[in-house]
Amino acid sequence: MVTFLSGGTGTPKLLDGALSVFSAAETTVVGNTGDDVELGGLLVCPDIDTVLFQQGDMLNRETWWGIADDTTETHDELQRLATSAGLADGPRYLPDERQISGREIARWRRFSGVAEFMLLGDRDRAVHVTRTGLLDEGHTLTETTRILADAFDSPVDVVPMSDDPVASIVRTPNTAMHFQEFWVARGGEPNVVDVAFRGSNTAKPSPAALAALTDEPVVIGPSNPVTSIGPMLAIDGLREALESATVVAVSPFVEDRVFSGPAGKLMEAVGYDPSTAGVAEAYPFADAFVLDDDDRTNLDRPVIRTDTRMDDIEDSERVARAVENALEVA
Ligand code: GDP
Repeated sequence: MVTFLSGGTGTPKLLDGALSVFSAAETTVVGNTGDDVELGGLLVCPDIDTVLFQQGDMLNRETWWGIADDTTETHDELQRLATSAGLADGPRYLPDERQISGREIARWRRFSGVAEFMLLGDRDRAVHVTRTGLLDEGHTLTETTRILADAFDSPVDVVPMSDDPVASIVRTPNTAMHFQEFWVARGGEPNVVDVAFRGSNTAKPSPAALAALTDEPVVIGPSNPVTSIGPMLAIDGLREALESATVVAVSPFVEDRVFSGPAGKLMEAVGYDPSTAGVAEAYPFADAFVLDDDDRTNLDRPVIRTDTRMDDIEDSERVARAVENALEVA
């Protein structure tokens, strides 16, 4: 058995090649749900969706989100209606009292569908309608995710980190906003002073995620340590399971250079060095690391080096083999 902890870009890239090295039937992917939002009444799980679309061979690999060649008619019409009606651009949070009414959710991840601020493709939206419908029918998020994984013919088991809501909230000098407002609506521009995972104190691990972590070993792909892996570490049961598991982590950095995204800025905000050294500090439970050939960081744990840039399947297979080697020395 092997369990991958995944965000929406770095670990999915690794998963592209991982199934040549690890058996799909014995692989579980635990997806981050701290990025999830309710948008126009639909629960969108961006990181899990990327894994589902990838496993179903439908992922848009230019963006690493959404379905390849999806149309956007509904989204375009939502934008047109909002503009014609003179309604301000999104993101438009629902009022405070609506943040916690009805379906149980963490505060500040519930947005109006007016002027839809995230681009949901038409086929993509069908996934969110199905997910939300299944939740409304009484299924847990874990059950719902597995039903969707079956619909995508996923060869691996895909489960959320928790069935309970957790919202990644970015604090700027003057205000606080959901991670998706920070990243999608504001292009990662605002200064960040801290990141909080609202709901994580009471959220329980999904039983399937906990079982997968207990089965071990665990691979943390090169995902953002703060907003992709951080929400998992904020849930006591998951962090404790990682402390007793054999864990290998792939750095999303080459020394202090990040491949993409806001990992550096967010790590600095939460008090870690924005570098491979900071990743090692953020993962005190990791038993071995995979670093890039050009990354000379000295770590206090075993290291396997390879070219960690993943642009195609051969690259992903190479990094997956390095992970396999790291598991041997972990
Ligand atoms: P998100 O949910 O879209 O933020 O995606 P993840 O958290 O899963 O992945 C983001 C991280 O992937 C970033 O910190 C990047 O540095 C890292 N990343 C992207 N492409 C590569 C790559 O080719 N190799 C490695 N090692 N890391 C990568």
